[in-house]
Parts: sequence; structure tokens; C-alpha cells
Amino acid sequence: MKIPFLSFTEVNQHVKAAMLQSFEDFFDSGWYVLGERVKKFEQEYADYNQVNHCVGISNGLDALHIALLSLGIGAGDEVIVPSNTYIATVLAISFVGARPVFVEPVKATFNIDPQKIAGAITDKTRAIMPVHLYGQCCEMETIMSLAAKHNLFVIEDNAQSQGASYKGKLAGSWGDINGTSFYPGKNLGALGDAGAITTNTEALARKAAVLRNYGSEKKYYNEVIGHNMRLDECQAAFLSVKLPHLAGWTEKRREIGAWYTAALKDCPQLTLPEIADGATHVYHQYVIRTPQRDALQAHLQQQGVGTLIHYPIPPHLQQAYAYLGFKKGDFPIAEEMAETCLSMPLWPGMTQEQVQYVADTIKSFYRS
Ligand SMILES: *Cc1c(COP(=O)(O)O)cnc(C)c1O
Repeated sequence: MKIPFLSFTEVNQHVKAAMLQSFEDFFDSGWYVLGERVKKFEQEYADYNQVNHCVGISNGLDALHIALLSLGIGAGDEVIVPSNTYIATVLAISFVGARPVFVEPVKATFNIDPQKIAGAITDKTRAIMPVHLYGQCCEMETIMSLAAKHNLFVIEDNAQSQGASYKGKLAGSWGDINGTSFYPGKNLGALGDAGAITTNTEALARKAAVLRNYGSEKKYYNEVIGHNMRLDECQAAFLSVKLPHLAGWTEKRREIGAWYTAALKDCPQLTLPEIADGATHVYHQYVIRTPQRDALQAHLQQQGVGTLIHYPIPPHLQQAYAYLGFKKGDFPIAEEMAETCLSMPLWPGMTQEQVQYVADTIKSFYRS
């Protein structure tokens, strides 16, 4: 059996005709930047995410960047971020001239440890950026009350967890202003780069909308020094076609996640992902951990199973962040995760038989 890490076949098949029609409508409209398709998708995504406002942005990294700019965070400020996040969260902080301050995750959930945040707060801290990693919503209640107590902003990085929730409230609806990504491999994926900001605060939505469009609301009148970071009209049209399917695709991801857990729970060499009390998971990734990660990955590859490592080097050890002066051992939990984590194949349409084949192949590795 050959099982790719990711396959769009099933998802694409369900939307192909509607996508082609939406492209033709877009093509014929003769309006290609910031038109009615972006506006329509912004309303639809705000409704889906149960927030007052959505602002379409060029990609997830730019969405986080604009979110930080909208809050006025910049040089001299510190922003708290998990030590095991994808580099984009940290880059956004760098782009505004602020300093990332890393806080270790909880091993079982991979998400930032709310108990460790208070210890990282200084008089320069302006914001906390929780990342709902791999599809599980962070323990947002504790994070929000810490932020309120210390007068900090919260910016959720919701690139991986559209539809996940904590105590019934959706990821991307807790923070002051939040970013998400519609990169093709994300749970809701465009056919290229795309992203969005979600917020309940009208003034922040307006700031973000101005900043993404040359700092201008009225054409050729520039209020602030802005960017060109707009969601593409064509991608917005595609996303409107796909959004109604997201809930169904999420159900499939959850089913596949449950299959993996059932098929692997009797494998003592593995640490399986856990879900925190009150949190839900949308399985952007199903990430297992094992000290023999590299050999297991090679074995799976030989047997036709594609896997990936999210992520092999934590941000504090990346060459790009050498200037922060960290060394190996400074964030041992993030480092251990980078050395032991392995993401299983998972996409809507994957069958129980395929999951069983992956599980059996893992077990054959430990028997040999
Ligand atoms: C994908 C991702 C981003 C960046 O999104 P892009 O659209 O690729 O720029 C940011 N944060 C996390 C956690 C991501 O997974």
C-alpha cells in the first residue's frame, strides 16, 4: 500500500465543478482585487468563526504581522510565544521590531503551558500569542485571565485549528485580534496563499483593513504607512466554495484521529497526543512521539507511508534567531519534541484500512 502524507484528491473532487464555476464568474467579473468576493468571504468566515469581523489578508504570516501592527506593538516590546511553534509566529513578532519571549508547552498537548506564562511576564510584555498547534485549542480561559490581570493583549495564531474550541468557544474568537491561514494544506485551504484576521473589535478590524491596503481606506489618501497584504479576490471566491464543507471535513479528521488513537494505544513505545479537559481537536496533524523517530520514519517510508516532522528545529535554535543568544538546553521540552515528534498521514477521505496499515507498519518496526 502507498499512503501519501497528504492528498487533496477527495477534497478536490467534491468541489471541482463549483470551483471551476467560481473561477469563471471571477474571470468574467473583470474585478480582480478587493471586490465583492473578498467581502463575501469575510462575512462568511466571521459567521463561521463566531466573531464580529474578519479581514482577508494575503497569508497567515501577514495576518499575524498586521494583527501586531494593529495593536501598536513594536520596538522595545516583548511578546510571549510558545517555544515549539512554527517559525511564522515568531517572524511576525520580529517584523514589528518586538522581541519574542519563549514559553514551553505542555508535553501531552503540545500547546503553551498556561502555568509557565506568568514567569515570563516583564514590564516590557505587551501581548501573549497562543498557538493552537496541530489542531487543538489552547487552554484559553487561563490565558485570557492572565492577560487581563497583567493588562496584555492576546493574539491567537489559529492557522492550524479552524473549528477547534475551548469550553465551547471557538479558537480565533478569544483574543483581541487573531490570525489564521488558508495555505493549501491547512484545514481550510485555498489554491495558493491566503489568510485572515478575526476580531470582535470594530476599531481593530478597521485598522487591519487599512494596514493591509497601503494604509488607505479612500484610494490615494494614505493615513498610515501600510502594506500590500490583501486577500486575493480569486482565492476568496475559492474559499467561499470550500467553507461550507469545512465542518464535514473536520468531522472526518476527528474520525481519523480516533482511528489512530484506537489503533496505536497498545503500542507502549509511542506517546500519543492527548486532549486537555475542555478543549477540542480538529486534527490538522496527528503527531506521535518516539525516541526512535528517525528510524521509524525511514521504516514507514520504505513501506510506502509518507510522514513529516513538525518541526525539526525549534525557533530558538534556528540560525535566523542566533542573535537572541539561546543554546541547546534552554527550552528542553521544545527540543525534545523536535527530536521525537512525527506527523502521521491524515486527510479527509483517508480510510480506516489505510490508518490500520500505518499502525501495523509502525508495530512491525518495533517487532523487528
Ligand atoms: C501555516 C502557519 C502559519 C503561516 O501561515 P502562512 O499562510 O503559511 O503564511 C502561521 N502559524 C502557524 C502555526 C502555521 O501553521
